[in-house]
Amino acid sequence: MNVYDSARMADVLAPLGYVTVDTPDGADMVIMNTCHIRERAEEKVFSALGRLRDLKVAGGNRMMIAVTGCVAQAEGEVILERAPYVDLVVGPQAYHRLPELIARAHRTQKSVLDTDFPADQKFDFLPAAAAPQGVIANLTIQEGCDKFCSFCVVPYTRGAETSRPAASILAEARRMVLSGAREIALLGQNVNAYHGEGPDGGTWTLARLLRELEKIPNLHRLRYTTSHPGDMTEELMVAHRDNPALMPFLHLPVQSGSDKILAAMNRKHKADDFRRIIARLRDLRPDIAFTSDFIVGQPGETEQDFQATMALVRETGFALAYSFNYSPRPGTPAAALPQIPDDVKNARLYELQAELRRQQDEFNLSTVGLTTPVLFTGAGRKPGQIAGRTIYAQPINIQHPTPLAGEIHHVKITHANPNSLLGILQKQESLAA
Ligand code: SF4
Repeated sequence: MNVYDSARMADVLAPLGYVTVDTPDGADMVIMNTCHIRERAEEKVFSALGRLRDLKVAGGNRMMIAVTGCVAQAEGEVILERAPYVDLVVGPQAYHRLPELIARAHRTQKSVLDTDFPADQKFDFLPAAAAPQGVIANLTIQEGCDKFCSFCVVPYTRGAETSRPAASILAEARRMVLSGAREIALLGQNVNAYHGEGPDGGTWTLARLLRELEKIPNLHRLRYTTSHPGDMTEELMVAHRDNPALMPFLHLPVQSGSDKILAAMNRKHKADDFRRIIARLRDLRPDIAFTSDFIVGQPGETEQDFQATMALVRETGFALAYSFNYSPRPGTPAAALPQIPDDVKNARLYELQAELRRQQDEFNLSTVGLTTPVLFTGAGRKPGQIAGRTIYAQPINIQHPTPLAGEIHHVKITHANPNSLLGILQKQESLAA
């Protein structure tokens, strides 16, 4: 979502004459768009700010420095106290106001803070004109969360759950396709809770929105992330069978396999709810593959709780998964509880990651020999290589003399490296272009 937000900030600033550059050296403005999810996010921000301060001073203090995103929201005034050379601190719901905030900072020669959650949605104020994202594009459809998992800062930094109106999403998707997108990933902190106003005056669900997006000519692939098991409705699961554009690959965070820990996390679902969803989706779409998120060492987690997570992992089989040690996020309920010692957390994470890595390798190896549609995105890393994505979003490279970006072709997978595949083009004619 931060990649999408950064692109939209560039769109907001383009009419003022700003263009993006690859290095902060000599830039008129540097925007540090921050994420608060990972451990020690604030410290990483302050150490990066220190490096920017040196650049600013070296350039005669002309460079403006802005901190945006969730660390800006969470830390606010603290950033201006600890790094008074920062000109702007702007929360994730206020970046559409960047032009006026920049003007105010110039006019007053003072730092400006805007971490409001405005009543109006920022999407109504973002420019329609957007820089092309490429063959695969991200589109935010929902933001914020009302679930308040005990480890998570999102409800505090991104605010209450809101859904964009369907008409504005459809219009943005059409523009993306016109500028070359062939696959769109719909984004939201709780994307499957989507309940936006429909053009017919009703409330549209994610499944309803996906049905409408599927009709856009030349939009061949749809994905959505991140989902909550509690919002995995039957209608949405059936969409995985009935919507031909919806890829058979779902990111569904479960976090733990222990009901006691899921309750402590305030996840509002049990391990068996997750099992039922997986089984139903496999029933509807037998070739579907899953990814998930896991947190190890939530306060109160015993070895028995952790082994319940391992059992769920072994039983489910994931194509890919993200796993982390629990780290206290200031202000969240679990941060105040007695913590699991680091060595215990590390040992559990090591065991979990070894199993997840084994499953990922096994999944990638199981695709070797298959002939599968690949959406080509552009040049590969090596000379003569073209890069693409499989239906499971695996990066894949083939040797080919001409560019195929935006086209879908059948490719036989010949080799699985740890993080990408190699293949051979099977048919020259495009399945879709
Ligand atoms: S559902 Fe996701 S975004 Fe919402 S509080 Fe829980 S972990 Fe955070």
